[in-house]
Amino acid sequence: MKLYNTLSRKIEEFKPINPSLVTLYTCGPTVYDYSHIGHMRAYVVNDLLKRTLKFLGYKVKHVMNITDVGHLTGDDDTGEDKLEKGAKKTKKTVWDVVKFFTDYHFKSTDALNILRPDIICAATEHIKEMIEMIKKLTTNGLTYETKEAVYFDVSKFPTYGKLSGQSLSEKLKGARQDVYVDPKKKNKADFALWFKRVGRFADHSMHWQSPWGEGFPGWHIECSAMSMKYLGENIDIHTGGIDHIPVHHENEIAQSEGVIGKQFVNYWFHYNFLMVDNQKMSKSLGNFYTLDDIKKHNIDPLALRYLFLQSHYRQLANFTWKSIEAANEGLNKLRAIIADLKPSSNESYESDKSQSFTQRFNEALANDFQIPQALAVAWEMLKSDLSSKKKLDLLFDFDRVFGLKLDVISKEKIPEEIIKLAEQRKLARKNKNFSKSDELRKKINALGFSIEDLENNKFKLKTLN
Ligand SMILES: [Zn+2]
Repeated sequence: MKLYNTLSRKIEEFKPINPSLVTLYTCGPTVYDYSHIGHMRAYVVNDLLKRTLKFLGYKVKHVMNITDVGHLTGDDDTGEDKLEKGAKKTKKTVWDVVKFFTDYHFKSTDALNILRPDIICAATEHIKEMIEMIKKLTTNGLTYETKEAVYFDVSKFPTYGKLSGQSLSEKLKGARQDVYVDPKKKNKADFALWFKRVGRFADHSMHWQSPWGEGFPGWHIECSAMSMKYLGENIDIHTGGIDHIPVHHENEIAQSEGVIGKQFVNYWFHYNFLMVDNQKMSKSLGNFYTLDDIKKHNIDPLALRYLFLQSHYRQLANFTWKSIEAANEGLNKLRAIIADLKPSSNESYESDKSQSFTQRFNEALANDFQIPQALAVAWEMLKSDLSSKKKLDLLFDFDRVFGLKLDVISKEKIPEEIIKLAEQRKLARKNKNFSKSDELRKKINALGFSIEDLENNKFKLKTLN
């Protein structure tokens, strides 16, 4: 399998450290607000990577953190604390905020059939490990302490900037003037390992004892500490959004390699953003959508997953209501084809042809993970003259990567009660009584099913997610 490695800026052959178990770390959500569809794209991409590795025969150990402390509104330690700000805004405690948005996050990822990581670890439950790591960095002469914080001194780490390709001198240039900066901070790119509960953070509600006084950890140290705890010093793949490259991931490298004295991550895997109507998603533009907005439009959450399959992870993806509706239709079409494929028992053997589809599917995956191409192979296979049975076998196999729950759709039984309602609706439509048919559709939806109208007054029922 070949993967693009941000560190080398090249597509490389993937060689795991231990061939029998791939170690994978993902920077998880900061749980101070609703996870939106942009986040969902990121986690679908992670999921596709993991499923692809498994499909190609690897075992995977996947760790993801939950940032529930220390992430300020600026990734470079500037501004307010995101969690404290969220708590103030919603008039809840920080702990309530964390619980609420963590639950929301997993509710959304479950609806998109994203496999949960093997280990999900909260930063606040690993303060001890972070303190130990800061102590080691201090012993190695890589830190300094001011009245306000303990910082990592990037000037002592000569390879700082290797991931983003920015030179250290570039990173050290003048501090930003528009935000608060500790007057004793030496270099602009130095970052906090530990914030003391003084000054701007005197009222910080989350705090712990440490050798540097009461306080809380900086954002970056959690990933270094937890990745090492659960996956060891040197890991295979570390994933995250491209926005993490210049600050968060550079800092993770500096911290981890500052402790272990050797390479931390072999493959840095970064995905691009999701745009909405070709614009950056933001609350002020009113184009900040969550999964609830998708459901309100009567669109199956898995249609969002299907939409994300259509763009390569290193490209910008674009969401429009038109594109999600088209994806919803595409997915329903796929389900309709599956429902119509009735395997017969007396089919001839046709391994050659099916093998060529499998081979092309695998090749697409192995070539820096070309999911859109793999999806095209699946459609081509469905339109081929393979037997129904073979088509279903192949499609369900491919769906181990796509994760569209296609086998569930074909196996599920629709209750009689729902079918009756659908028949009544069909009659109402025939009589052009559209208010009645609308009412019945709502009733069917409320009972957890969706109904799709097909040609010749036929319909198709399926469970809603
Ligand atoms: Zn991280």
